[in-house]
Amino acid sequence: MDLVLHLADDYLLDNAWARLLPLNDNLVHSSANFTSIMHHVQQSAWPRDYIPRQIISLIVINLVGVHFLYFLFAWLSYKFIFNHEMMRHPRFLENQVKLEIQSSLQAFPVMTILTLPWFQAEVMGYSQLYDNVEDYGWTYFVLSIPFFLIFTDYGIYWIHRLLHHPSVYKTLHKTHHKWIVPTPFASHAFHPVDGYLQSVPYHLFVFLFPLHRWLYLGLFVFVNFWTIIIHDSDMITGHALETMINGPAHHTLHHLYFTVNYGQYFTWADRVSGSYRQPESSLDPMLDIKKKS
Ligand SMILES: [Zn+2]
Ligand SMILES: [Zn+2]
Repeated sequence: MDLVLHLADDYLLDNAWARLLPLNDNLVHSSANFTSIMHHVQQSAWPRDYIPRQIISLIVINLVGVHFLYFLFAWLSYKFIFNHEMMRHPRFLENQVKLEIQSSLQAFPVMTILTLPWFQAEVMGYSQLYDNVEDYGWTYFVLSIPFFLIFTDYGIYWIHRLLHHPSVYKTLHKTHHKWIVPTPFASHAFHPVDGYLQSVPYHLFVFLFPLHRWLYLGLFVFVNFWTIIIHDSDMITGHALETMINGPAHHTLHHLYFTVNYGQYFTWADRVSGSYRQPESSLDPMLDIKKKS
């Protein structure tokens, strides 16, 4: 996110802050040589490294970004992948899409605030994000992709599994299981603390291990996309990777049966920990719709 703040400052926010809180004119014009330069480049009284400015900028960027990614990918998935017949399922709620969107929009501001310390720490240079591929080499660059996915998958597996513990389930995770037959808009419909906790492994990773800045940004977009894709209630079975990759069919079963397939990208954590359920065409929620009609 430090990269996004940097780009936003370059192209948008330097200007916005200069307009909002311009540098005192007396100060600007105190130097005669400076005056001609400052005439064209207006500056803000709050420079880039001023922490309150960074915090406000991060909040705005994060809120805009999360809404943009959510509505873009969820809408694309809802329009082109989600089978609208699924809305006739007996367990599909009345006005469910509207409720899923409402729940997501309620979660975003609190999740943004909870995530802020991670992003601010990145901006202050405490993370291990790096700019030059040469620093760690191309082999590390390529291997850091599966490493990031495996690390975060395992972290999310256990956080998700603990969220199903009776002591916290009702308070934190039940909100997300209101959707027995979810649509892509349910992908971010969480209690904000639940949504935040499940994102902690992503933030933690870059403080423990080096990761290229642009790669991190790409992976961040990818994880949003993946979260949305696995919520399209599909039960496509019989593909070659289904025992390895936790896809839409696996997460459909999580929403139907609650205590199976807690994983995010891979099935190994579920298989090793005894919570794996193989997607089978006989478990397809679409069968309930056909039975009904
Ligand atoms: Zn889900
Ligand atoms: Zn769950």
